[in-house]
Amino acid sequence: MPDVRTRPASGPPVSGADARQAVAELAGAGALTELYGPRPTGRVDPRTLRRLLAEAAARGPQGTVLALLVQLATALPLLTETAQAPTATAVRDAALGGRALLALAATDEQAGSDLTALTTTVDLDGDQVTVNGTKRWVTSALTADHALVLARHRPGRHFTNFTWVLVPLTAPGVTVRPAATELFEGSGVGHLELSGVVLSRDHLLGRTGRGLALFARHMAVERLASAAWAIELCRGAIADTDRRLRARQVDDAPLRESASVRQRLADCAVQVSSLHALWTASCDRIADGHDATAAAVLKAASGTTVERVMTICAQLQGADGFGTGGIQQLRAEAAVFAIGGGATEVVLDTVAGRLDTVLNELTP
Ligand SMILES: Cc1cc2nc3c(=O)[nH]c(=O)nc-3n(C[C@H](O)[C@H](O)[C@H](O)COP(=O)(O)OP(=O)(O)OC[C@H]3O[C@@H](n4cnc5c(N)ncnc54)[C@H](O)[C@@H]3O)c2cc1C
Repeated sequence: MPDVRTRPASGPPVSGADARQAVAELAGAGALTELYGPRPTGRVDPRTLRRLLAEAAARGPQGTVLALLVQLATALPLLTETAQAPTATAVRDAALGGRALLALAATDEQAGSDLTALTTTVDLDGDQVTVNGTKRWVTSALTADHALVLARHRPGRHFTNFTWVLVPLTAPGVTVRPAATELFEGSGVGHLELSGVVLSRDHLLGRTGRGLALFARHMAVERLASAAWAIELCRGAIADTDRRLRARQVDDAPLRESASVRQRLADCAVQVSSLHALWTASCDRIADGHDATAAAVLKAASGTTVERVMTICAQLQGADGFGTGGIQQLRAEAAVFAIGGGATEVVLDTVAGRLDTVLNELTP
């Protein structure tokens, strides 16, 4: 297969200077200290995170923003919370210094929405651990130095059967393949095959059996970050559409003056304002309390908001939207907000299971 790339045992990453350069620049500018505080514990300052992602989204490409989001909101905080042995603390320190890029590999060969069915295994055997399995659609798979891999150490669906392993992507037995997509430039998204990857035991992250508990905590913050990025994308798309329609004439009047167009643009602004209000109201609860219900509400809202706003803006931009790098491409990439990090249906299931809590929050 021509598109298969197996990383050599050593050497430079395949590509992805963008995300690497971005984390190096952020660290150099002191932004990571602002984000995590002078003594990082795994807590993320949500407003700094939002600002950094908004700045990255304005620069593009959006695939680089995705890689930054995983690094800043999820992978590095999870590593920081769990790193104790010298192997993990060295990688954590390199990442905090902007010298290392991380991937976070949870999605397996099986349905990503059914995490407790994942088949990647970690065998715990004395001083060594052995990892086997396949991870698909992993951001930064092609570009990262290490992946945090969610694996099972015991069969069965029980919550405590899973553990995180820090896997160097240059280790023997690791094969990296690019995902076959034209989208998400800069994301380094790809698939990992882990075939008899033998590592010393100090590559385990956190206590054995804490894998899903840690995943839930840190996914809540990833959902907060992804909603922040969603707001910025929608804001940019609405402003761009507004600008284009002001310059477009139909029946000798700017298209922007059509009542139908005005109302549809206003509807987009209302949708994104609602998402912004929800983000603002829930950001501390998610960042500090890892509130999974609030994060599920926010994730569901951002998936549906992005879809609605992008559909309207893309329609209003007409044929020009299909130009290279135009809004139709952005719209295709933005569909990831309703799938990546938990499909809308899955987070709605979470909300349905906690409906009383959600409704009680609305009591005056
Ligand atoms: C660009 C990109 C980057 C990604 N990066 C990462 C990463 O860095 N790390 C990582 O671990 N994963 C990553 N993913 C994977 C992502 O998290 C999964 O795609 C997601 O969890 C959904 O899993 P799936 O694709 O296997 O869809 P499936 O689980 O097969 O679901 C397919 C569809 O079925 C529907 N569905 C699923 N469950 C239900 C349900 N309970 N009720 C009703 N309908 C349902 C939904 O419409 C869903 O979209 C990435 C994906 C993309 C596209």
